[in-house]
Amino acid sequence: MKIESWSLGPFETNAYLLTSEDGKSCAVVDAPRDAGKTLLPEIQKRGLKLTHILITHGHWDHMCDAHAFASAGAQVLAHEDDQQMIENIEAYRNRYQAMMPFLTEEDFHSCKVTQWLKQGDSFHALGKKFEVRHVPGHCPGSLLFYCAEEKLAFTGDAIFNGSVGRTDLPNGDWHQLLKSIREQIYTLPEETHLLPGHGGKTSVGKEKKTNPYARP
Ligand SMILES: [Zn+2]
Ligand SMILES: [Zn+2]
Repeated sequence: MKIESWSLGPFETNAYLLTSEDGKSCAVVDAPRDAGKTLLPEIQKRGLKLTHILITHGHWDHMCDAHAFASAGAQVLAHEDDQQMIENIEAYRNRYQAMMPFLTEEDFHSCKVTQWLKQGDSFHALGKKFEVRHVPGHCPGSLLFYCAEEKLAFTGDAIFNGSVGRTDLPNGDWHQLLKSIREQIYTLPEETHLLPGHGGKTSVGKEKKTNPYARP
């Protein structure tokens, strides 16, 4: 599986493009602003069939362009605890505009989710099995997508290279985040690559040894 990343939007949120080994199909993890107009032409140019858009959590900078991938035929996967944020973004408009006054009409697109995922679920995409772990704390519906065969996990904003997700946003919970990291991320094999929602990749082993916020 080939993985490419783009850092997009006002918060430099990572969108990942995953391409199958046979080079025929692809999936996307997270949809920051401009992800649609950046990735979709690339997908089309390469003649790839887009199968899934995986949403790590419902914050605006990860879901705002999901509708573009859904319209292009992707199945949309997310956690039900973020249902309102993803499917009814209008309910969050005032809150988002207070925090991010630069948002315009074009930035508010809800996206209908095809399949709700929960802790312990698994699904197949691009010929690989992905295990689903629920990692709340930064956001109630935070998900981690783990592919054992590829030794990698998409962690959203739960953990970063040398840092962890902020918990001062509405419904954030510091103790819950630490519990998620210790029980759901630090229990993955040490060599597992972690691909976060912002910044560069890291590994379980490195964070267990050096992360100053989340000690094992
Ligand atoms: Zn977030
Ligand atoms: Zn984020």
